[in-house]
Formats: sequence, C-alpha cells, structure tokens
Amino acid sequence: MSIYYYLKAYFEEGQRNITVNLSELGENLLSDIGKPMSHDVIKRGINDLVKLNIIYKNNQLRPGQVNEYEVRLPSEIPEVIDMINADKNISIEKKNEDLEDFYTNPEKRIKIFERDNKKCFYCLCELQNNTFYLDHIFPRAKGGENYKFNLITACKTCNSKKSDKDAETFLLDSYRGGLLTQEEFMNQKVTLKNLTEKYKECKSIGI
Ligand SMILES: [Zn+2]
Repeated sequence: MSIYYYLKAYFEEGQRNITVNLSELGENLLSDIGKPMSHDVIKRGINDLVKLNIIYKNNQLRPGQVNEYEVRLPSEIPEVIDMINADKNISIEKKNEDLEDFYTNPEKRIKIFERDNKKCFYCLCELQNNTFYLDHIFPRAKGGENYKFNLITACKTCNSKKSDKDAETFLLDSYRGGLLTQEEFMNQKVTLKNLTEKYKECKSIGI
C-alpha cells in the first residue's frame, strides 16, 4: 500500500511512467518498525501491485535500463471499476423497488404489513394477514402513488373512518380519542414524518 502511494505521488506530479530503482525506493519508504524497507520487501510489493493490475511493468526495456512502471489511478484499476459498478447496480435496484406498486401486488402488501409490525398504524390494534388494509398517506384521490413509502397498515375501522383525511390529522384524532398514549402518538408521528420524507424523495425521482 505505501509503495503504491509513493508511486502515485509521482503520478500526481504529472509523471505517468515511473522509473523505479528498487534500492533508492527502499530508502524512501519506511517499514512498520521505522527502518528503510529491504530490497526484497520492495520487490515483493512491486510484484504484488503488478499482479493486481495496479501498476503495469514496461517490458520493452533496453539492457541496463532501470525498471519502468506505469501507475494506474484507483479509478483505472479493473477490480475497483467492478466494485464501483456493483455498488451502482445495487443502488439502482433499490431505487427501482422504491418506485414499485406495493398496493396491488399481494406479496408486496405483506411486506408493508410486516414493516408496520402487523399493527394498525393509527390505533395500534393487532391484525392478521387477512384482516389488514393498506392506507395511502397521500390519498390516491389527490395523486398519491402506490409506493411503499406512501402506504401504511390500517384496520378496517381506521381505514374507513380516515377516508381522504390527512394522515397526521387522523393520527391526532386517534390520540384525542384515547386510542393511543402520548408516547405512542409521538412515535407514530416520527414514523409518519420519515415515511413522508422518503416518499417525497421518490416522487422527485419518479416524475
Ligand atoms: Zn386502527
């Protein structure tokens, strides 16, 4: 690693092809115990960097010429490029899932139900797989999407009582009606706020 940083420093000064004199390099690089690195350690390090395609050895040397290497920036190293691409694909997949229809797909509905701990979001009554409803935070009638961040689990009673009312107002109704303790109300309010924020992010991607 330290050999790479050392070579890369040359690169940043504008030299892509670097001639390396192994014994000189050893004097400039200190080992873990603070002594100059031995010729063997440097040689092994250089060979490892070559093997990993991090630096390339220039093979067309004239006799007596010092070894010449071409240094790659991290963004040019094949393994690093693969890692970056893999990361990108994961985040694209994740974003796509955020924009999927969780309302009409039965398997996805269950995911919302489980996310909400199998309870009605508004009154916290426990529900079964076949007795839960899904409610839109931003009502369908007002352009609310079927994204997962716009859906919350509700019981039959809350779902029909809420209809097109604003989710936060309806939550407050539940609290005032004695269905939630103050702590429960506060917790649900925070959850609602987080969902709403994520939903708004998705809306801006989706449009
Ligand atoms: Zn309820």
